[in-house]
Amino acid sequence: MKIERIELRQIQMPYVFPFETSVDRDDNKDCLLVRIWADGVAGWGESPVTAKPYYKEETIDTAWPILANFAIPRVLGREFSDPREIAHWLHPIRRNYLTKSGLEAAAWDAHAQSRGISLARALGGTRAKVAVGMSVGIEPTVDAVLRRIETWLGQGYQRIKMKIKPGFDLEVVEAIRRRFGPIGLQVDANTAYTLEDTARLRSLDAYDLMMIEQPLDHDDIIDHATLQRELRTPLCLDESICSAEDARKALDLGACRIINIKAARMGGLAEALRCHDVCRARGVPVWCGGFLETGVGRAANVALSALENFTLPADLGASRRYFHEDIIDPWFEVNADGTVDVPTGPGLGVAVVEPLVEKYTLRKETFRAQGERTHGGGRTA
Ligand code: MG
Repeated sequence: MKIERIELRQIQMPYVFPFETSVDRDDNKDCLLVRIWADGVAGWGESPVTAKPYYKEETIDTAWPILANFAIPRVLGREFSDPREIAHWLHPIRRNYLTKSGLEAAAWDAHAQSRGISLARALGGTRAKVAVGMSVGIEPTVDAVLRRIETWLGQGYQRIKMKIKPGFDLEVVEAIRRRFGPIGLQVDANTAYTLEDTARLRSLDAYDLMMIEQPLDHDDIIDHATLQRELRTPLCLDESICSAEDARKALDLGACRIINIKAARMGGLAEALRCHDVCRARGVPVWCGGFLETGVGRAANVALSALENFTLPADLGASRRYFHEDIIDPWFEVNADGTVDVPTGPGLGVAVVEPLVEKYTLRKETFRAQGERTHGGGRTA
């Protein structure tokens, strides 16, 4: 397939309600959308960079020039037969994983569409439905958390992931267990602790959690290995794992027993597949995390979650949990059994609703193979 044209958009969509972690609080979904035209089809991808460098060092304002000046010129006008080539072409650009991932995902969508198969099938997925859980943000009170959880459990979600931070951890976990009993429950600290908190984190062993996600620093595996030896509860790494090699090293060290695979955090779907395979070969379960993506990124996550070693519920909610109107049709819904159907149509398997994309676009730019760049459109362009 020859990549003839690429469009880059900055998107901002209001969330139904704000989402707070140990690090930050967001009222809006900010991200970049990438569209690639090749051989008569147009593929979509999402780079889940945000306005602020609080998950990784990347932001929308760092991602845009990296894509425009380095990543897009490396792929525009070139031909590929396997979308894994895209990641290879982008590899010389150091890190910038979230930034690069949208471009790579768009190529996967275009590739699957051109073959007339779903993205899930193109990736090697075998499931028709994926089990999903809900990620619950930090709220002003424990009661507010319990009310949220009651709603999600009523909608069928198979497990709850509670965001925690020092001072908002043991009490909230205790209250959730007391109220809801033996539900599937895990916690995510988003790097909020240090080894000095080992005793506090060990107290969580009493609550039969499925895992404690990323308690220590965003690029650490050594201290996590020390901590894992002190805990009965499995540690799961998120922020620390940016490649299949990172996963191998973390598992060699004993830094975790579970890995949260976010393709965007690894630069794209090709690396996520490699990470999946490394974990499968070692009998280590994985699950698909998320960045509260628009329907475009969500569809790619659902497709990835169809792979066999994604054995734990994904952070993939219904579209209406996040947005008043999602930019895809149909929206993702959660079935009564706590699953989401894996789309079977070509590519992402959902239509991207262009008037809505336009409505939420803050700026856009089009790049053509002959080197012409067109600015224009969007609310502030
Ligand atoms: Mg996480």
